[in-house]
Amino acid sequence: MKKIGIIGGGISGLYLANILNNNSNFDYKVFERKSNFNFLEGYGIQLSVNSIKLLNKLNFNNLSASEVCFPTKVNFFNSNNSKKICDINLSQFNDDQNRYTTTKRSTLLKFLLKNIPKEKIRFKTTLTHVEEGENTKVYFSDNSQENFDYLIIADGIFSQSKSIILNKSFSPKYNNSIAIRANLKGYNFENISIFMGSNFHYVTYPINQNNEYNFVAILKKKLTTSDLDYNKNSPNEFKYLLKKILNKNSIIKFENLTEIKAFPVFVSKNFPNINQKNIFFSGDALFAFSPSFAQGASQSIETAQDIFDCIISKSDHSYKNRFRKIYSINLRSKINNFVFHLSNPINIFIRNIILKYLSKNKKFLENYLGKIYRN
Ligand SMILES: Cc1cc2nc3c(=O)[nH]c(=O)nc-3n(C[C@H](O)[C@H](O)[C@H](O)COP(=O)(O)OP(=O)(O)OC[C@H]3O[C@@H](n4cnc5c(N)ncnc54)[C@H](O)[C@@H]3O)c2cc1C
Repeated sequence: MKKIGIIGGGISGLYLANILNNNSNFDYKVFERKSNFNFLEGYGIQLSVNSIKLLNKLNFNNLSASEVCFPTKVNFFNSNNSKKICDINLSQFNDDQNRYTTTKRSTLLKFLLKNIPKEKIRFKTTLTHVEEGENTKVYFSDNSQENFDYLIIADGIFSQSKSIILNKSFSPKYNNSIAIRANLKGYNFENISIFMGSNFHYVTYPINQNNEYNFVAILKKKLTTSDLDYNKNSPNEFKYLLKKILNKNSIIKFENLTEIKAFPVFVSKNFPNINQKNIFFSGDALFAFSPSFAQGASQSIETAQDIFDCIISKSDHSYKNRFRKIYSINLRSKINNFVFHLSNPINIFIRNIILKYLSKNKKFLENYLGKIYRN
């Protein structure tokens, strides 16, 4: 029986734990820094069909229908007059069994935790040291030590374990933008709406069937290193900025937002380079992109699946292929971010004409979205 250690109990680590849990050839353990999971946050997540296909193999489609939504369109608006520019039909990428889905992040986490026995997760534990070899010796912050055949690093964007394993500091870079997340009520949108403004965009989508919505705004903002020390930074400044934006003809009213949280957006600079055949990086610890393509969670799930396939097949083929896919998603995230934030009125005028055309161009959509969504 192969022993697998998973560092980080986020979307990627828990997805992998679920596949291993269904396979009696493996023994596994998840090591999580936090003391427990937070299910109270109501923020949302978008899951495109590429990850839904994998989640449905774990019976995600048996979740109560009231806890998920299946948006069929992405609507694009000018934020300064709330006029619709165009829409993209998302359902063209669905199949009979798998549909583009939005839900609460906590609903996904609860689902991923449902079948994992309690003794398989060790909380308040981080990796401190690794001795590589055919059988990797791993040392933990609680002074314990375990041997694993495979070690999976899935401790998120600020992965400490990555720096420990690669023996050099590996920090993500600030993406010159601030994300503001909130819960939204009092509307009746069925679909995903993207409102584009000068140097910002915001997105709303339903997260269940109870008229609850996710709101996330991405504002371009240069910050110095000391500004980036989040504790020194006043989130109220960003809330004020958001209020000003929404007061300008937006159909989303600032007063309808609750649990507003602002934080700087970080992205990966490059892929971690590792020669060790039995250590894998997954999810944001492997590569984190800007949230403008809404693929972070889906890629975290797909990469975890690739890692499992590699372990089974004893070949790193699918893991290496994933790098190519992540590279193309990163490019699309950057393009989206640029296009959504244009500020010059002439550029905006031209962008809107191009968007109207491309949003109905099957060839373009298949290439830009279909390639990613259809796996
Ligand atoms: C504003 C915003 C909006 C987003 N919206 C979407 C979206 O709509 N759709 C989408 O697909 N993606 C979205 N993403 C991206 C997505 O949230 C991430 O890509 C995804 O959560 C990454 O999963 P993960 O498992 O790699 O990491 P995480 O979910 O961050 O999990 C990492 C886990 O590791 C634990 N941990 C941390 N350090 C250690 C340590 N040293 N030892 C042990 N455990 C540790 C953490 O506590 C955590 O539980 C968004 C991101 C942002 C910033």
